Amino acid sequence: MDKKAMYKLSYGLFVVTSSLDGRDNGCITNTAIQITTEPNQIVLAVNKQNYTHDMIKASKKINISVISEKANFDLFKRFGFASGRDTDKFAGFDSWKRSANGLAYITEGTNAYISAEVTAAVDSGSHTLFFATVTDMEVLSDDKSATYEYYQKNIKPAPEAVGKTSDGKTIWRCRICGYEYVGEEIPDDFICPVCKHPASDFEKV
Ligand code: FE
Repeated sequence: MDKKAMYKLSYGLFVVTSSLDGRDNGCITNTAIQITTEPNQIVLAVNKQNYTHDMIKASKKINISVISEKANFDLFKRFGFASGRDTDKFAGFDSWKRSANGLAYITEGTNAYISAEVTAAVDSGSHTLFFATVTDMEVLSDDKSATYEYYQKNIKPAPEAVGKTSDGKTIWRCRICGYEYVGEEIPDDFICPVCKHPASDFEKV
């Protein structure tokens, strides 16, 4: 079985934002799809480890900002590689506005945003699937939407060549964020401490 087959699926990339008790937060997801037109419904998968996940569950409100090819790596670092539990992802960040539903949406490196109300949440293991009805949306630019493949090839910095540590230990690198794990084998249940992706997203370098 070649686990890389999963990388052949096509995905977009999104900043999913929510708000709870006056606090804004958001995370990066690659899974947001329109499933029906009548009513206009979106389904998105959000990792349960993300603080945004808990905020969506409680507030039932989301904005999905669609990431474009103009996005830079800083946007991914800000919303993807930190936790809203211990950092304010909006601190020192001014590329956002507030939409009619009161939530933040991202104005730089994005080409649209969609506001929606959650109608159902389905527990799906590592993630919850949120079904949501669209309440508002706007196009922000004509830039092309970034696919996950585009992110891997053009936005994520190319990793430097490393292979073994100075004392000969094997390095595994997270394909998503570049975090490095040192050890001959990576445990199956290992979760990247930075981006929360599983061991299957690590490769030997
Ligand atoms: Fe990672």
